[in-house]
Amino acid sequence: MKPYILAIDAGTTSSRALIFDHKGNQIALAQYEFKQYFPKESWVEHDAIEIWETQVKAIKEVLFKANISPDQIEAIGITNQRETTVVWNKITGLPVYNAIVWQDRRTAAFCEELVAQGYETKIQEKTGLVVDSYFSGTKIKWILEQKPENRSMAEQGDLLFGTIDTWLIWNLTQRQTHVTDPSNASRTLLYNIHDLKWDQELVDLMTVPTSMLPEVKPSSGIVGYAQLAEWNYNIPISGIAGDQQAALFGQICFDAGEVKNTYGTGCFCVMNTGEKPVKSNNKMLTTIAWQLNGKTTYAIEGSVFIAGALIQWLRDGMQIIESSAEVEALAKSVENNGGLTFIPALAGLGAPYWDSNATGAIMGITRGTEKGHIARAALEAIAMRSREIIFEMQKDAGVVFSSLKVDGGASKNNLLMQIQADLLNAEVIRPRTTETTALGVAFLAGLGTGFWKDQEELKKIWQKEAAFQPIQNENTAKIVSLWNLRMGKITTK
Ligand code: ADP
Repeated sequence: MKPYILAIDAGTTSSRALIFDHKGNQIALAQYEFKQYFPKESWVEHDAIEIWETQVKAIKEVLFKANISPDQIEAIGITNQRETTVVWNKITGLPVYNAIVWQDRRTAAFCEELVAQGYETKIQEKTGLVVDSYFSGTKIKWILEQKPENRSMAEQGDLLFGTIDTWLIWNLTQRQTHVTDPSNASRTLLYNIHDLKWDQELVDLMTVPTSMLPEVKPSSGIVGYAQLAEWNYNIPISGIAGDQQAALFGQICFDAGEVKNTYGTGCFCVMNTGEKPVKSNNKMLTTIAWQLNGKTTYAIEGSVFIAGALIQWLRDGMQIIESSAEVEALAKSVENNGGLTFIPALAGLGAPYWDSNATGAIMGITRGTEKGHIARAALEAIAMRSREIIFEMQKDAGVVFSSLKVDGGASKNNLLMQIQADLLNAEVIRPRTTETTALGVAFLAGLGTGFWKDQEELKKIWQKEAAFQPIQNENTAKIVSLWNLRMGKITTK
């Protein structure tokens, strides 16, 4: 057995490569940013060739930094920004259009048409998704419609579609392997998450020739061999997962009821629901977490649009702090929120309110209100919104929520994590490795070649850095009751 796993983390703004050892230690990291293109309002594109080239640079650099050679790599795992769509010519290897990024909303009108035609329920039942331009299917259709030759080449079988995992694997394997995994396929609007197949009806609806679609392989297990031009070695590619699902795996949320929450600009919350797909009554997404050892694990996913962004606003808008990290000391300068509630609807409100017109508010101000109270109420608002999402997921799933694993920039805030534990009445656990996405796909890749024996072994090497136990006190109950009262005033639901 070779000593290292190479994780490729193909993100939205940068191409990254990381090396992990058998204990799950991160040995080295290399990262190259690539350009974001905004050709029109609400359009977002990447140059797929630039993604490939920066990825290769990151791979070479991480090997150099770790001072290891390709023959010391046991396996490669790939995790990626999800939904972003590449269509390329399989003869020339060139994309026929820039990659259309998940954030891009150019197909929103077509999505509205699908809803108007009554497809919403059927699409949700088959794919677990809401009809939205985020997902790949309508982006493929758009690319094919740009030039008559795009469609004719696609129909002749000369064009291939892939999300970024597929595109990178095709290039890494010298154009031999056209594959994806169910966690990525389940974000296309084309994949039936119950039958575990491309859904012919949806594929026809999006007018995508079946020959364009990659083969869907398990998330763990060898799918092909990476061979870079100057390497004499073929390295197995044996792990694939979309970024949020990879993070769930990297947080060892292997059992139903386990949840990870990433505290960044927004919060990305994913709950493992075990071997059953759970339909959300609240427009949250049902998705495939991974497929491993012949078993498919499902998850439910919800997000809070404004989380760390609240702290950015305190820093840049209100200028009551100079750095995001300062918010913790400021919030600790007071004993409690002084009766304030911060309604964090700076960009509308998502689940469970779905009120895009809601705006933010700070309620309960008195002559005694200090900056510290505002800072504290802002942290409580982040934790309250995460609590609402997690409770809705728990209701949808009918599984009992057991523990919360956290990551992302704002999870470094100890006070925020304590407030979160108190508000959930559950333990909040922060891992030692902050690169949970890359670690997750390294785990999947390592399981795929026997580098690690099984998930039990992973549980043993995974290490927590800190744990926050809930402390029930009157203050917590007061935060919740004021929140409920005041949210009721600003939202219609
Ligand atoms: P993203 O990937 O969305 O850019 P990151 O995971 O890098 O986000 O986290 C950055 C976000 O976390 C910013 O919104 C920042 O304001 C917030 N943040 C960073 N450190 C802290 C902190 N100590 N306390 C609260 N929020 C923080």
